[in-house]
Order: sequence, then C-alpha cells, then structure tokens
Amino acid sequence: MTSPADGRSVGYRHVYVHVPFCARRCSYCDFAIAVRRVTPVADFLEALATELDLRFTGATAGLPLETLYFGGGTPSRLGADGLARAIQVLRQQVVLSPDVELTVEANPEDLTPSTVAAWRDAGVNRISLGVQSFDPAVLTWMHRTHDVAGVYRAVDALAAGGIANWSLDLIYALPPEVPRDWSRDLSMAIELLPPHISAYGLTIEGGTPLDRWRARGEVHEADEERFESDFLSAHDRFAEAGYVQYEVSNFARPGHESRHNSSYWRNVPYLGLGPGAHGFDGQGRRWNEREYSRWRERVLGNEDPIGGEEELSPEQHALEALYVGLRTRNGVAIHATDAAVVDRWIEKGWGTVHDDRLVLSPRGWLRLDALVSALTEHRSRY
Ligand code: SF4
Repeated sequence: MTSPADGRSVGYRHVYVHVPFCARRCSYCDFAIAVRRVTPVADFLEALATELDLRFTGATAGLPLETLYFGGGTPSRLGADGLARAIQVLRQQVVLSPDVELTVEANPEDLTPSTVAAWRDAGVNRISLGVQSFDPAVLTWMHRTHDVAGVYRAVDALAAGGIANWSLDLIYALPPEVPRDWSRDLSMAIELLPPHISAYGLTIEGGTPLDRWRARGEVHEADEERFESDFLSAHDRFAEAGYVQYEVSNFARPGHESRHNSSYWRNVPYLGLGPGAHGFDGQGRRWNEREYSRWRERVLGNEDPIGGEEELSPEQHALEALYVGLRTRNGVAIHATDAAVVDRWIEKGWGTVHDDRLVLSPRGWLRLDALVSALTEHRSRY
C-alpha cells in the first residue's frame, strides 16, 4: 500500500487502526478513547472509509499488507458484524498478504463463540485479550468491565470460535495500597496456556482517575523495588513455562511473537488510521487528531485529520534505533569502540554479546534508559 496523498510514496506493509470506544475509562488509562454506552459503528466506519479515501486515493496497487492491527480503545465493541465491515472497508484500499497477521484487541465480555467465528471468517487470526489480573478486587479497583469468570468464558469462546493464536495482557507494579498476589496471577495466566503474554508495568499518567487518587494521597506509585521484583518474577516464571521474553514487555512461545509489534521495533514504516493513531513513513512520524468527534468532523469535511508531525534527524534516528533495538532480544550491532562501556555491563550481568550484537538481560532492561544514554554519550566522542 502506498500513500501519494501524504506527499511521499511509501510502501506500507503494516497498518494500525485505532477504534476508540470503551464502556468506561479504566482507572489507569490515558489512551485516546471515547466512552460510549452504545458503540456508533456506522458513524465510525463511514469516517474510517473517508480517511482511507482522503489519504490513499488511487493507491490500491500497493504492497500487500503483512500485518493489520485493530487496537484501542476496545475494537471488540464493534461486534461481530461491525468488525467484519471494518475489515471490508480496509480491503477496498488494501491488499492483504495471504499470510497476513490480523489482530484484534478484545475485552473478555465481548467474546462469544459466534463472534469469534464471525471474525475468523472475516480474516481475523489473532486476538489480544485484556485480562490485567485474576483477582476480583483488583479488577474492580482498575474499573475493568469484566470479571474473572468472564476471562474463562472468553478463552473457551476463542477455542470454540476457532482462533488459536491469542495473547493475554497483564499489568504489574500496582500501588502498595492495592493488595495483589502477583505470583498467583502469573500462575493463573500460565495455566490458560496463551501462546503470547504481554505484561506492562503500571505508570500513573496525568488526567486519569488514578492520578486523582494519588493527588488525594490515597495511592502511591509502586517503588523501584516492587517494580523490579514483579518484572523479574514475570521473566522467571514465564521462562520456566517455556515463554521467551523477546521484548521488554512481551513473552511468546516459539513462533508466536507478534509480527505487528515487531515492525515497530524494527523501525519500518507503518500507517495509523483513526483518532490519535500514530504512523511512521521511514523518515518522520505523524499522528492524528486525538479526539474522536473532532477526528470524524475533520475527515468528513474532507480534511486530513493530522494532529501533529515530526521529522527525525539522523541523530534521533540513531537514538531510536538503539533504544528500540535494545528493548528486544535481537539487540543492536556494537561498534569496536563500544567495548569500554559494554564490557563492564557484561561483567555486571546486564547483557551479553554474540556475533557482535549486544543483547540486554532482564536486569539490563531494568536500566534501559541509563544504558542507552551512556552508550549514546560514549559514541558521540568517536
Ligand atoms: S478498556 Fe483499554 S482503552 Fe478502554 S479504558 Fe480500559 S485500558 Fe483504556
């Protein structure tokens, strides 16, 4: 797929579609969402089709897509028919490769055997399931819309509907005021045998309910010790269960790594559609208007819904490549002059070097920002 309307002809092989709707806002969430009791499916699809037309007119002869990812928000709120129609909208402008990875983020309460089967028939072959915890009190504290039984129903629905490739999301490093048995959550996640697991450390973002609770002194951010112990125990337990931590926040059984997310870490171009969606054309980034109603209004007024853009200088490109490369198990190529800093990290157990590539260990990942700064600073002297 190419995008002449954006001013540059770029061969996109990865597309992200942001579906902003949620039933309510989770306590920690600062994503671009639109809280709606009833999802305005037809309105959203009309705007999505228009954005595609506006930005990609006549570009149908482009490269087949390797990955298509519906994220959010809660894309599963489009329902069985709505999501199939969204894929149809995309197919009018996009050619999907025969082995495309087509992922949909879903909340457990939206999955039934018939919904999953309808999505499978529409081409969906991967589901990312927002579970976050198996503790009812924690789910309530997070303002999640599902209960623990709903997770098991959703996993049964995936099996009955015929989608075997799925991922389970968890959140760790909760405030000390929230009683949470992380070890029990890890065991329960592993027992479900998901082919892929994502685990994210909680950060308190401005403007969220959690931020207001912190301002009132009701909760505090987890300290470094808690963060480190949750992170390292996830690594150990998942490794014992046969998962490879192929990126700081992602674990997979062999062959089940997310191809879409891997494209971000390889710094290849990807296209973002929908409110707040980010894109990268190989030289710079752009992002869309974040607010759903405003995005829709602009698109339907035949205006590019761009919210901002930035060109990356060669130095920024190099820094990003270093940062995202070191987040993954592929690591980065090292220069002969790097030995002065890298050798010390190896001694401390923060990483290894194989075939002239530096790969950080989990303890190295805990120091990622500092190590990237140190290596960048060191390289700037040569
Ligand atoms: S379901 Fe996801 S996107 Fe929606 S409010 Fe919760 S965390 Fe945010």
